[in-house]
Amino acid sequence: NNLTPYNKMSHLDFDKEHIWHPYTSTTHPLPVYEVESAHGVRLKLADGRTLIDGMSSWWAAIHGYNHPVLNQAIIDQVARMSHVMFGGITHKPAITLAQDLVRLTPPPLTKVFLADSGSVAVEVAIKMAMQYWQALKQPNRNRLLTIRGGYHGDTFGAMSVCDPVNGMHHLFQELMPKHFFAEQISCGFYDPWQDESLDHFRTLITSHHNEIAAVIMEPIVQGAGGMHFYHPEYLKQVRQLCDQHDVLLILDEIATGFGRTGKLFGCNHADISPDIMCVGKALTGGTMTLAATLATDNVADTISSGDPGVFMHGPTFMGNPLACSVAHASIKLLETSDWQVQVQAIENGLSTILNRCKDHPAVADVRVLGGIGVVEMVAPIDVPSLQQIFVDRGVWIRPFGRLIYIMPPYIISEQDLTTLAETVVETITTLY
Ligand code: PMP
Repeated sequence: NNLTPYNKMSHLDFDKEHIWHPYTSTTHPLPVYEVESAHGVRLKLADGRTLIDGMSSWWAAIHGYNHPVLNQAIIDQVARMSHVMFGGITHKPAITLAQDLVRLTPPPLTKVFLADSGSVAVEVAIKMAMQYWQALKQPNRNRLLTIRGGYHGDTFGAMSVCDPVNGMHHLFQELMPKHFFAEQISCGFYDPWQDESLDHFRTLITSHHNEIAAVIMEPIVQGAGGMHFYHPEYLKQVRQLCDQHDVLLILDEIATGFGRTGKLFGCNHADISPDIMCVGKALTGGTMTLAATLATDNVADTISSGDPGVFMHGPTFMGNPLACSVAHASIKLLETSDWQVQVQAIENGLSTILNRCKDHPAVADVRVLGGIGVVEMVAPIDVPSLQQIFVDRGVWIRPFGRLIYIMPPYIISEQDLTTLAETVVETITTLY
């Protein structure tokens, strides 16, 4: 056979031939960069170059990479046990983390389900809402209401509430439950409040509440669905409408949680709390996969009062002790840091620099909130070639669609932040 023996292939050739990366083709693989190590806000490539990290590995690495405190938490826990089943067994790392989560999230959230990833946490949240209405003998309340432009994960339940156009609905139409989608939120975070931006949502919940189990949405920032920042009043009124129509509210804080928007949770901008909340990503400071779904006593106890009297979910690696230990360490690190000051400094720096390209003809919009800076282009971006330019200029920024966005670790220095943002502005002005 004409296969090249593995030991004669370069790492990158092997990767190209055998490994799937997120959203990639095996016949037309896109370039990937081999990272050998990462420290603080630097990624070290296998070819010796170092890059300033502008992505926090998709919202996760808020304290930077290779943090000694997080490493130590993992090392200490490895010496005790890496994993043990969670059925019929409990352990201190899970208990300590659950104490943190109950303490930090808004008061009515008291019950914690530990999940393996963000998508699973969303599946769990949806299942909780469905079991809640089954327990109340209203199984016809089995649809969800969400907002266009959202993103909640790649598993089937989560996909069914992702944006129907940007998402994967067209591929799996027949296989996915049909939910209600309110129009994209037209009132931006910094706009004066426009009550009519809620009209479609209000109409849907008023007309269909008898079929709706829950509203599910990302609070304040719609992330992977387009990086929209919307008005806190919208969220406040969604909470009121849910109460008025007896509909549960699920907030997906997987991207927004742990300070990224300038508040600890997105819902803190609107001073509201959900019935069910999902957290993930930055939960472990970006070191290990872990997420959690929290619920109120009302949701949890109602589920437990129905048939079969238990919540029907239980992954093999539920409550993984390593992940729980490092999540507790990450939360402690966050709480003892000046994260509000750091995130504010990122907001100020990104705002000052990125706004320099606001009037460029190729730029549709520039928006900044907390530790997130977005340049929305007029036309779709050729991601591999822009990526290459950024890497050649020493920064790790990964655009998608029409968006070039930066969300660095909170610990980034002013100088590195300036380099990241100026690289974006200079690249746009040189290329377009
Ligand atoms: N919800 C939101 C808001 C997200 O941003 C993401 C991931 N981008 C997910 C859910 C899914 O999380 P995961 O990729 O860990 O499954």
